[in-house]
Amino acid sequence: MGTKLNILPLDKWFDTNGKPLIISGPCSAESEEQVLQTGRALAKIPEVQMIRAGIWKPRTRPDIFEGVGEIGLQWLTKLKAETGLKTCVEVANPQHVDACLKNNVDVLWVGARTTANPFSVQELADALKGVDIPVMVKNPLHPDLKLWIGALERFNQAGINKLAAIHRGFYTYEKTPFRNLPMWEIPIELKRIVPNLAVITDPSHICGNRELLQSISQKAMDLAMDGLMLESHINPAVALTDASQQLEPKNLQKLLNNLVHRQEFGTEDFENLLEKLRFDIDHIDEELLTILTRRMHKIEEIGHYKKENNITVLQMDRLRHMMLSRLKVGKELGLDNIFVLKLLQLVHKDSIQVQTRIMNKEL
Ligand code: PEP
Ligand code: MN
Repeated sequence: MGTKLNILPLDKWFDTNGKPLIISGPCSAESEEQVLQTGRALAKIPEVQMIRAGIWKPRTRPDIFEGVGEIGLQWLTKLKAETGLKTCVEVANPQHVDACLKNNVDVLWVGARTTANPFSVQELADALKGVDIPVMVKNPLHPDLKLWIGALERFNQAGINKLAAIHRGFYTYEKTPFRNLPMWEIPIELKRIVPNLAVITDPSHICGNRELLQSISQKAMDLAMDGLMLESHINPAVALTDASQQLEPKNLQKLLNNLVHRQEFGTEDFENLLEKLRFDIDHIDEELLTILTRRMHKIEEIGHYKKENNITVLQMDRLRHMMLSRLKVGKELGLDNIFVLKLLQLVHKDSIQVQTRIMNKEL
């Protein structure tokens, strides 16, 4: 998938000091006191470089707290004047953009629900034409990488090049330990396709609870993500939104202290040995593909044989036996059972497709 995004890297528009960008603050601004108390405590944490706060909240159902609205921006201005910390706010329509620009919000972010709607994204992009402000785009609710990239493209076409992405996980109907599935392969693929793009992980909305925050934050660092957005509240127990995932500032400090930071690149000796090991992997992958090709040729041969003898593509007994025997071998070899199962399913699906094509081809 090609994209012509022209992005200014994060460290060219924000002084990160070579460190991951740590953004924290309440899910929602609730009162002047709550914003100021939370922000003052965060300002004492050296790693925190930017304050977040939801001013207009996208709620699943009506008649619940929908954010304090524009007045909350004044509290953020006050906090900024006092602490010097930059501020960022979610915008979902052009009125939000106007209000944020009027109140000197430093960075805007687009929420997951908005990213999923190209009409809304385009309205935001149009409202930002000619404005020089960084925009961070959260992933859409569902795992659609193209839609995520499409939103970034709309802002880019409106002239915004200070762009970053926020990975907040993906909705799943299944019950899992996470509120939103991380599906790390998607932000990783985004980074691969868009080289200059910083991706900030939002462990709060991925986890939905405080217990998993540390491990997801560490994982983000280990995957060389560019920062973290972590919700915090001076008294999470009484928070009006997302109470179960917000951290007291002192616990945020603990989480940040416990993070192990690893380098993306090592010493020359390290890089040399790594290159050798990778050379081995390249070789093994080649062997793997050669073996898969041999297997596929056999599948084709069997397909023709079945066709000549008018035999169905699928034999359930054979499939059952094949799966069980391979799973057993995989287990004996110390491979993860789920991994082997997924691999077999993938290989078998392709084999079925090849034989079906053979069956239906006039040969
Ligand atoms: C938020 O950041 O508080 C929020 C509403 O997030 P999301 O858009 O990721 O659901
Ligand atoms: Mn929230």
